[in-house]
Amino acid sequence: MAKKILILGGTKEAAELAKELVSDGHDVTTSLAGRTKEPLPITGKTRIGGFGGAQGLAEYLMLEKVEHLIDATHPFAKQISKNAVEAAKLTSVQFEIRTRKPWEKKEDDLWQEVATLGEALHAIPSGARVLLALGSQYIDIFAARSDVFYLVRMVDPPTKPLKLPNHEILLGKPSTDWQIEQSVLTQNNLTHIVCRNSGGQGAYAKIQAASALQLPVIIVNR
Ligand code: NAP
Repeated sequence: MAKKILILGGTKEAAELAKELVSDGHDVTTSLAGRTKEPLPITGKTRIGGFGGAQGLAEYLMLEKVEHLIDATHPFAKQISKNAVEAAKLTSVQFEIRTRKPWEKKEDDLWQEVATLGEALHAIPSGARVLLALGSQYIDIFAARSDVFYLVRMVDPPTKPLKLPNHEILLGKPSTDWQIEQSVLTQNNLTHIVCRNSGGQGAYAKIQAASALQLPVIIVNR
């Protein structure tokens, strides 16, 4: 039976899920935080911007008569996931979590697993040339290392100059082709990757490329 569904999105997987559910005949709205300037088109309806905490989300669910809430946000987007759990409790709407599983380390991977961005910062050896593959809101902390070069990958250009002393910006999304990711690493003489264990396919090619080149990946676990 067709249902009114709200997907908390902002990921490739959420967009794929919206397409699938719309083709199954459901009335689907995908919610985006509004961080990306030009998000790719999403099948079904889209709404943009915060709800105003768990209470605001609960009010939205009731007002819009949502029957099924799906959390398909990025695994490091912790606040909205907490809010979703809380709002589902407040409204008794059907609730499902579809966040990605983390990547698993393979035999050839040279991972240094860390718990925080601060630990990642200290794990970078002096003189390293690093692909910084993090969301733009997570990079300021790396300004503390003037002995390191950063190639910062960003989807949108920064709104203000980055604080990093020694860096270049690589605009655009990561490629899903590991050989293209490998050429990014080799052409820029990179020695390390710093990223989070986001899981999913969209950003995995850099991990495969690092493995092929036997480059260390400093990876922040969930
Ligand atoms: P967050 O810290 O968990 O959320 C902060 C606030 O942003 C939330 O309290 C909520 O505001 C609003 N928000 C977040 N996701 C929303 C959504 N899908 N729809 C409507 N409001 C949303 O989230 P974040 O880490 O800033 O990530 C924001 C969005 O970008 C997420 O949707 C996530 O899927 C996507 N994303 C995040 C990352 C990442 O690295 N964190 C990477 C790729 C994509 P209110 O409390 O006002 O409702």
